[in-house]
Amino acid sequence: MAVLEPQPVTALRGVGPRLARQLEDYGITQVEDLLFHLPLRYQDRTRVTPIAALQEGGEVSVEGEVRLADIVFGRRRSLVARIQDGTGTLTLRFFHFSAAQKNSLQPGARLRCFGQVRRGASGFEIFHPEYRLLADDEDAGFPGAVEAGLGATLTPVYPTTSGIGQAQWRKLCAQALQRLEQAQPRDLLPAGSGQRFTLVEALRYLHAPPPDAPLQHLLGGTHPAQLRLALEELVAHNLSLLRLREKQQERAAPSLAQGRAAALQRSLLAGLPFSPTAAQLRVMAEIGQDLALPVPMLRLVQGDVGSGKTLVAAHAALQAIANGYQVALMAPTEILAEQHRLNFGGWFEALDIDLEWLSGRVKGRARKAATARIASGEAAMVIGTHALFQEDVAFHRLGLVMVDEQHKFGVHQRLALSEKAGIDGRPHQLVLTATPIPRTLSMVAYADLDCSVIDELPPGRQPVTTLLVDSQRRDQVMARVASACAEGRQAYWVCTLIEESDALQAQAAEATAQQLREALPDLAVGLVHGRMKPAEKATVMAAFKSGAVALLVATTVIEVGVDVPNASLMIIENPERLGLAQLHQLRGRVGRGGGASHCVLLYQAPLSRSGKQRLVAMRESNDGFYIAERDLELRGPGEVLGTRQTGLLAFRIAELPTHNHLLERVQAIAANLQGGDPAIVDELIQRWTGSKARFAEV
Ligand code: ADP
Ligand code: MG
Repeated sequence: MAVLEPQPVTALRGVGPRLARQLEDYGITQVEDLLFHLPLRYQDRTRVTPIAALQEGGEVSVEGEVRLADIVFGRRRSLVARIQDGTGTLTLRFFHFSAAQKNSLQPGARLRCFGQVRRGASGFEIFHPEYRLLADDEDAGFPGAVEAGLGATLTPVYPTTSGIGQAQWRKLCAQALQRLEQAQPRDLLPAGSGQRFTLVEALRYLHAPPPDAPLQHLLGGTHPAQLRLALEELVAHNLSLLRLREKQQERAAPSLAQGRAAALQRSLLAGLPFSPTAAQLRVMAEIGQDLALPVPMLRLVQGDVGSGKTLVAAHAALQAIANGYQVALMAPTEILAEQHRLNFGGWFEALDIDLEWLSGRVKGRARKAATARIASGEAAMVIGTHALFQEDVAFHRLGLVMVDEQHKFGVHQRLALSEKAGIDGRPHQLVLTATPIPRTLSMVAYADLDCSVIDELPPGRQPVTTLLVDSQRRDQVMARVASACAEGRQAYWVCTLIEESDALQAQAAEATAQQLREALPDLAVGLVHGRMKPAEKATVMAAFKSGAVALLVATTVIEVGVDVPNASLMIIENPERLGLAQLHQLRGRVGRGGGASHCVLLYQAPLSRSGKQRLVAMRESNDGFYIAERDLELRGPGEVLGTRQTGLLAFRIAELPTHNHLLERVQAIAANLQGGDPAIVDELIQRWTGSKARFAEV
């Protein structure tokens, strides 16, 4: 069989420049691309269903004789036709219709129609069915049935936004399928990939499944034909990430000798009031080896909330600094960046290392001074928010970029930083995650990074007891907070809002703080939110840290980084609004001291099903890795990664967690292909990511 040559879609019947332009929006420029525009679901138009056997909600073909057709003036004017097939009567209802249409639906006419069955006032109805009138000698059994509107296969329903209708997609894809008779796309997966379907068999099956195809499997994404394509798509995706990694490593990185850093690193650890955990030491060693190589490190550090990733980052930073290179640490929020500044500031001051800090709020002369100290290299350690991307920031011998990611920065942002590194090659890159990422998801989304896991918490951490309390019992919860604080404990009261708006969040927190102050006059209540000036925030946080403030009302800005071991109680209002990862991250602020800690999820009834499942998962477990897996099950990959830029939502057929079981094989196949013919890799990436090859475009 000949190999399908590239052929523009305009080679197909009915595709002019206008449609070609529309198809381009779907990434479809070649005939072959159409084959990979896969149906979302299917309709069964292969058989006629007797009216007596109709069920509400079903999409069916029905055949019958028109008994009556009339315009009815109800709440809305409509054309109503009643048809009968010998087993029962069905109502067809049209809210938009033409005079010609009304005239064609004469009593006695026979028609076949297709649509979704709904229950009306007097039996079943179909609104706006697709239909065609049948000639006297036509019936379902006759050989021309396909032309008469009855399919020989299940009817595909294609993903579409606007402009191109289902009928048009079907015609286009049918033409592309016909071309398979003469020439076929190359099967690019190595033989013996353990699949029941070949590429072409799978494509044929999915665009035109036989009438007896198992619809349940097709809808669930578990049919072998779907598995064949999902496997290939995941391999292509994996290869595009591996390629990205290769590209980044084409250029050298500074080799940072471990020996030179040993003294500084020893002093850092010696100055701590605790010893690093075995897991921290292991990850420090893994990073240390990477940094010593003249190849850019690309490493992800995963660890549960409170596992001590910051220390690991500081340890790595010293290796660069000791070798005469600058280090940048970027955080997703200002409060977290400040927290890092405090931690690093304390540690590095003792080591006589200069640190500079930059956020969007640093403006004017202060900003000029900061950027000057960064550009001159006077500041060996730079900590900041997105502001580090701004044009006026230039680095000086930047040897290591660290990103505290919280699933928010993309590959391209990391690269943007390394572009202005001020060195010949590329800096090393270290990504720290705020909460664990499910293993399956990191296999897919972070395949370009090596992974280190801090799988141990510092000793003495107390599991947090989590309670679900209806907000009707808010008064009781307030009383409980008051008595806990009277015993010398400290507490957080976290206000949530659905809106991302800082202003609204701040308002809500202010109102809550006011109310708590009135209700609990003996209590020192502090307030912190994203709209406050950095100095104000710092004052409140310091007062909380010192114990002068007993109850801290906060927006979710405290989600990350805040560290007050004596705080052992957290109230989260409307926790049902937050994702699991965010809840877990918040709860990680307590349980850091010696005593027992509690987290009260003060929810608003009634809870949605998934809201309830999330809260129950929180009550069940303190393990971030377990919670991450539950989160993936409940919300899907796009939401869990917190970004729509990852390409994960753009999968055509692969789905997580449905196809988790393929991932081990995906990795093996991709690794194998990567060592082989680059033309095959190109073709696979092109086929599946096409013009939207976000990963390959570095
Ligand atoms: P995360 O991994 O969530 O970023 P942090 O780095 O903020 O955690 O660490 C949380 C707290 O634990 C900090 O106060 C830190 O100083 C402390 N810490 C880090 N490592 C250890 C350790 N090995 N033993 C005790 N405390 C530690
Ligand atoms: Mg952290």
